[in-house]
Amino acid sequence: MVNNWLNIIQDKLLPPTCLLCGNHGRPGRDLCLPCQETLPRNTDCCRQCASPFATGTARHSGLCGSCLARPPAFDQTFAPYLHHGAMRHLIAMLKFHGRFHHARILGTLLADYLRDTAEIPDLIIPVPLHPGRYRQRGFNQALEIARIVARQLQAPLDIQSCHRQRNTRHQTGLNARQRRANMTGAFAMRRPLSARHAAILDDVMTTGSTTHELARTLKRAGVVRVDVWTCSRA
Ligand SMILES: [Zn+2]
Ligand SMILES: [Zn+2]
Repeated sequence: MVNNWLNIIQDKLLPPTCLLCGNHGRPGRDLCLPCQETLPRNTDCCRQCASPFATGTARHSGLCGSCLARPPAFDQTFAPYLHHGAMRHLIAMLKFHGRFHHARILGTLLADYLRDTAEIPDLIIPVPLHPGRYRQRGFNQALEIARIVARQLQAPLDIQSCHRQRNTRHQTGLNARQRRANMTGAFAMRRPLSARHAAILDDVMTTGSTTHELARTLKRAGVVRVDVWTCSRA
């Protein structure tokens, strides 16, 4: 109720403006309906890693070839959009130009999707940034989006238990095996977790090797089920 009133007051004082075209946004969101409809949806994808299926590919029990060959440590991925066009632009503006209000619309779009599709976990864990990277950027975009999602779905956010202990080199040019090796030992637990079911949250999932390594770390700490929540899938 309080949240509702706050939203109404906020909409009156600072009417939402579409971040893509500058027209009035829909109530409570910085995006207009026509622009929202241009966002590329990820509808036909692998159940486990949300990688989009190319037309004509075999779909063995809903899994892609790489999940069948080398199953990742996470159980299911929820990725409503593809990483191109307007979605890629919204994420780039947050990540590389520090436009914080982009986190609000990205979190809202992700929460809208999760509300209908996902089970609420015991904890939401945004992918931790290495302290060196954090100092450079000044914020963690995964955490900024996770704050919005956690508030809208009323799920607890955990930013303390797990940290990134190793700054990994860029994954560009590495094959799948090398990417996993490059990420090994990147994360560590600071304290034990009591969660049975956790959701890792990231802005974009590219190869899945970061989320695989974080999921592996969480499972070793006793988490039974790990889902991945991400705005877009490359
Ligand atoms: Zn618009
Ligand atoms: Zn897959």
